Amino acid sequence: MPECTDRFFIPPPSPTSETRTGEDDNLLPVYLEENGGLLLWSGDFPLPAIDSRVFVNVNNIGWALVKGYYASAGYLGVMTLPINPPMWLCEQWLEDKDSERPEWAKQGIGCEFGSELSLVEPAKSNGLQEVVLTLQYCLETFEATCQCEKCDPCRRGRRDIRRAISIVEEFCWPIDTPAGIQSPRFVLQRAGVKAEFDGLRTVIDFVRDFLPPSIVLHDSATRAEVAAMAARKHWTLVEKKGTTHAPQE
Ligand SMILES: [Zn+2]
Repeated sequence: MPECTDRFFIPPPSPTSETRTGEDDNLLPVYLEENGGLLLWSGDFPLPAIDSRVFVNVNNIGWALVKGYYASAGYLGVMTLPINPPMWLCEQWLEDKDSERPEWAKQGIGCEFGSELSLVEPAKSNGLQEVVLTLQYCLETFEATCQCEKCDPCRRGRRDIRRAISIVEEFCWPIDTPAGIQSPRFVLQRAGVKAEFDGLRTVIDFVRDFLPPSIVLHDSATRAEVAAMAARKHWTLVEKKGTTHAPQE
């Protein structure tokens, strides 16, 4: 999600021998911009060259070609063109083609930080987690497309996707809930790790902790906004259905 202070298609920065300590107490290499500015690279491999292949680990994007570099909040990122984009992204491009987004975005170029990339395709340790991610993008696309609550996608479509998500989730991550105890309403998942929350507000507090200070996440953020922020650190936000809580919305 580009911020207005982000700079795109910057000249390729040069590596230095310096490092800085990042948010997760990891050492991040420092790159030098033409104008003398310093940018941190969060990848565990050197900044990839233009037109080289990288694997985008977020949003089901997969292999992509490096098309440029960008600077965001002191970090260096790459601008990539997916080689085999997922369906949700193709649909977004179609929706965006008349919008006021920059031309490169309409052409399908996206922005990722180094921590979201790798040089090899990660082992698909849990293929069903990918299925949940895909279904969540379908659901978010449905929700963003129409809110009339009357048409078929609003009623049957979203209900069916939610049901499919909960079937896969229960299969992958069954939650043992003792009788009489409310199950958590929100779960953040990534690579076999699961954090449970009883409300969106507590999720917001958790997510806010790992966001860089330049990014503001309001208390009133919607579920989709929180999910997008959580995705920056590879967390998938899941809303549990069928609990004793009052229904959402
Ligand atoms: Zn509708």
